[in-house]
Amino acid sequence: MVTGSTSGIGLAIARALAAEGANVVINGFGEAGEIESLRADIETRFGVRAHHSPADMTRPDQITAMIAEARDAFGGVDILVNNAGVQFVARIEDFPAEKWDQIIAINLSAAFHAMRAAVPGMKAAAWGRIISTASAHSLVASPFKSAYVAAKHGIAGLTKTVALELAAHGVTVNCISPGYVWTPLVENQIPATMAARGFTRDQVINDVLLAAQPTKQFVTPEEVAAFVVYLTSDAAKQITGANLSMDGGWTAA
Ligand code: NAD
Repeated sequence: MVTGSTSGIGLAIARALAAEGANVVINGFGEAGEIESLRADIETRFGVRAHHSPADMTRPDQITAMIAEARDAFGGVDILVNNAGVQFVARIEDFPAEKWDQIIAINLSAAFHAMRAAVPGMKAAAWGRIISTASAHSLVASPFKSAYVAAKHGIAGLTKTVALELAAHGVTVNCISPGYVWTPLVENQIPATMAARGFTRDQVINDVLLAAQPTKQFVTPEEVAAFVVYLTSDAAKQITGANLSMDGGWTAA
């Protein structure tokens, strides 16, 4: 189960897990025909079953139902990837309260609700992998991203807590903290960052986004997906409760 997987990092994770032979539930929004071709492509390309759940990550009831549907379709959720996330960029005094609520719901509370629903099955199977897409913003802040930074710091704390609860049950719980990954989420925040800082598009890319990454390169969705696949392997069974940076050196500074 990969939340927020009709685009960007989540889609790359769903494809990489399918390439390893996992049946996948993809989730997220988009145009119905496009989602159906993404879903069908996963089935034909990787020879697995793929199901799409339109569950809205702001809705706890829909998240719980999505986990139950996955269990009915595939017999259980062995791997849960909490990936759905949105961004909004504004000064704290202008930050719309409803944007705060939406970001906390999608980027933080949805992971709680999904874990809460999936953990009993993992415990019963004595095996499971929970991986959340956090962010370098789970470790450090940037101005104008109060809700996002608060939610991602929250994911890091939730990860540690649930990892301790499940350590003796064969279930590992980790988060990956990428720096900037070139996806629609990053592309879409460029106009607001231009407005907030009075910068051009190139200045935002070079002086704001890549300024933070010593490698001067964006992380790719496929690199994050390969890390997820590794964390699901037996070789990674002693990695739990970790917040794993993948940020071109950003948070080393
Ligand atoms: P994206 O915009 O490409 O994809 C977001 C996905 O979430 C889409 O499938 C979208 O439909 C889905 N989604 C949005 N709102 C939803 C809702 N209410 N219910 C269900 N699904 C919903 O974004 P991305 O860059 O691939 O980001 C994925 C995750 O990676 C996010 O948690 C993001 O915070 C994190 N992240 C991204 C970057 C980056 O630079 N792109 C860096 C660090 C962390």
